[in-house]
Amino acid sequence: MRILVVEDDERIAAFLVKGLRAEGYSAIVAGNGEDAEHLLERPLEPFDLVLLDLGLPTMSGEDVLVDLRRRDPALPVVILTARAEVGEKVRGLDLGANDYVTKPFAFEELLARVRAVVRSTNQPSASELAVGDLRLDLFTKVAQRGGRRIELAPREWALLELFMRHPTHVLTRARILSEVWEYDFDPGSNVVDVYVGYLRRKLNRPGLEPLLKTVRGAGYRLVDHT
Ligand code: CA
Repeated sequence: MRILVVEDDERIAAFLVKGLRAEGYSAIVAGNGEDAEHLLERPLEPFDLVLLDLGLPTMSGEDVLVDLRRRDPALPVVILTARAEVGEKVRGLDLGANDYVTKPFAFEELLARVRAVVRSTNQPSASELAVGDLRLDLFTKVAQRGGRRIELAPREWALLELFMRHPTHVLTRARILSEVWEYDFDPGSNVVDVYVGYLRRKLNRPGLEPLLKTVRGAGYRLVDHT
């Protein structure tokens, strides 16, 4: 397995490379964002994972990640960051990183995270849910129907993901409230029906049957017309 280590601190880079090689990984260092981009664009052999420092001299790790995700949505990325702030981690994950490790880190933990990320991404299309002509990419957060991109608000995404994980099953309002809104009671509102309505408007296409069916007295069901 080939790992690209993007790290400007030579001491940390050397430590990482030594440790990774001791574990049987092949590790290549890029000391700045520009070199990392160059290596990622024209690798002699493709990389299997990137360890990415966010605090780099000129081009930031965030910029490297954004450019990488445009070209390759699937290559696993683990962020290494001294920035322990929650906001930085959230931003890194939102930009498409698979995981992060905060410096200073225990090498054993880093290895465990690398293994976990590789495991989860090596299962073919583990990152994608597909029902009929609907696609949800859980890494890149892109929803499509028939190749056409659909913009979803976070709750709409969570609701559609729930339906797509249980295609053809009837999902009750209580279950949807519990899983999407984390309500274990009925707040007495029609929030589920309202959001199903939003989703229908976004998913439906003229001339095609609706994907979300109302099951009278029970709830809703995602149908697969294919
Ligand atoms: Ca750094």
